[in-house]
Amino acid sequence: MSTAQPTAPGPDRPPVALVRRARRVNRALAVRWPDARCELDFRSPLELLVATVLSAQTTDVRVNQVTPALFARYPDAAAYAGADPVELEDLIRPTGFFRAKARSLQGLGRALVERFDGEVPPRLEDLVTLPGVGRKTANVVLGDAFGVPGITVDTHVGRLARRLGWTTEEDPVKVERDIAALIPRPEWTLLSHRLIFHGRRTCHARKPDCATCPITRDCPSALVRVGAPPPPAAP
Ligand code: SF4
Repeated sequence: MSTAQPTAPGPDRPPVALVRRARRVNRALAVRWPDARCELDFRSPLELLVATVLSAQTTDVRVNQVTPALFARYPDAAAYAGADPVELEDLIRPTGFFRAKARSLQGLGRALVERFDGEVPPRLEDLVTLPGVGRKTANVVLGDAFGVPGITVDTHVGRLARRLGWTTEEDPVKVERDIAALIPRPEWTLLSHRLIFHGRRTCHARKPDCATCPITRDCPSALVRVGAPPPPAAP
């Protein structure tokens, strides 16, 4: 983990206290979730790209149930480009929105074959030109398939960043920018996974489990502060 010191605040830099707090949270989450990782199964950038497209509006568990057969049937970009739509839809049906996702996968295959020699490009600016691939998907692929640090702002990361006071933004690109200003670049991918793990298992959208959360002291949204005296009564 990086031990880089936060730099002094400037016009575009967050306060040092906030930087220190964010980095403490990152370290505490690393201890809490030592196995935090991408929960989609994949063996190549293409498989991760496909799995990430399929993960929209469904769970990673559901995606992992369909991908073994899908990856066996469509081993490369050309296979997706030439896929029979009905067969492809049938294979991915359990992930929901299967017609739109099948169209995305076919378009993805075609774009990869036509513009990138059938290979998944390792650059954000190229990835986001692919059908069905937004910045979130591109950052997942960069971080987990290519080892390029990326902050994945999904629903969990956005919610936690706001609860932790790291950002007030709703726009994922602005949330990504605010987190990037707090956390050293080499930590970005793992931080994203830790926040996603924490959001899925502890800091739930409706009922955050603050009583078992290890970062209550650094969370301005904590409902309880574990190990801390109760706040003074209101006058
Ligand atoms: S203290 Fe509560 S609100 Fe804050 S991160 Fe933990 S579970 Fe979420």
